[in-house]
Amino acid sequence: MNYTNSPIQKITFNNQKYFIKRDDLLHNDFSGNKARKFYYYLINDFPNIKKIISSGSAQSNAMYSLSVLCKIKGLEFDYYVDHIASYLKENPIGNYKFALENGMNIIEKDLPNSFDEESLFISEGGAVVEASVGIEVLANEIKTWAEEQNIKNLKIFLPSGTGTTSLYLQKYLPFEVLTCACVGDEDYLKKQFLELEKDNFPTILQREKKYHFGKLYKEFYDIHKELLTQTNIEFDLLYDSLGWICFENYVNSQKNRDYNFLYIHQGGVIGNVSMLERYNYKYNK
Ligand SMILES: *Cc1c(COP(=O)(O)O)cnc(C)c1O
Repeated sequence: MNYTNSPIQKITFNNQKYFIKRDDLLHNDFSGNKARKFYYYLINDFPNIKKIISSGSAQSNAMYSLSVLCKIKGLEFDYYVDHIASYLKENPIGNYKFALENGMNIIEKDLPNSFDEESLFISEGGAVVEASVGIEVLANEIKTWAEEQNIKNLKIFLPSGTGTTSLYLQKYLPFEVLTCACVGDEDYLKKQFLELEKDNFPTILQREKKYHFGKLYKEFYDIHKELLTQTNIEFDLLYDSLGWICFENYVNSQKNRDYNFLYIHQGGVIGNVSMLERYNYKYNK
């Protein structure tokens, strides 16, 4: 399988111009952040491996992307979860539904302590050194674009979960990379960076209040709808809504500077189906 450079598009949101790197459009099945992080596994052959094993939540983007990867490579896929909500079992939607259709074996048990030699373990969310391979490709696409378009003073933003993507982007890019913490808090994110690198970290933008990952917030729903209306682009509700709130605050504080702003759309919209059901239920009753 081959995928090409994802496009970069110009948009206006709330009267401010932004460039958007459309990694959500990288490929029909294998796109977004997790496609970049699992690129190493896509392009390399593992002749002695029959199965990939991972763990995490039953709705995760990583789970879905690994199911695609395993299907492409003809590998089995065992995915360990703590718990599958009964409504999801009865009514599979989103990442869970499509990962099952791709042949995932979902296992409601603790992750075993060891695996046989024919199994390859990938830790939750793809927070692994191997992720740097695909993220370097992404960084090079951005560098080439900026050179060709003669774009200077570029500030790049992407929201973080494990922080793996923003960390490696900063490593491979000559521009400042900005991010915000979506899964844990700012301290958690910094610890995550330190697990993989010693220095040269992205700039963490502070959130104005504490948010809990996966919970519903009216302002997340509002900015999601506003982005869709003004730009015609569907962004993810788990990371991008908070990402845009943080990034827009930052951009508004830099108004007199001559910066160009690039936002990286990291996909994840399959997960929106279940989130939108919950939002509609809560706010549009
Ligand atoms: C996984 C994911 C992220 C977070 O990426 P990290 O490398 O874990 O920081 C952000 N956005 C989307 C859509 C994702 O799927």
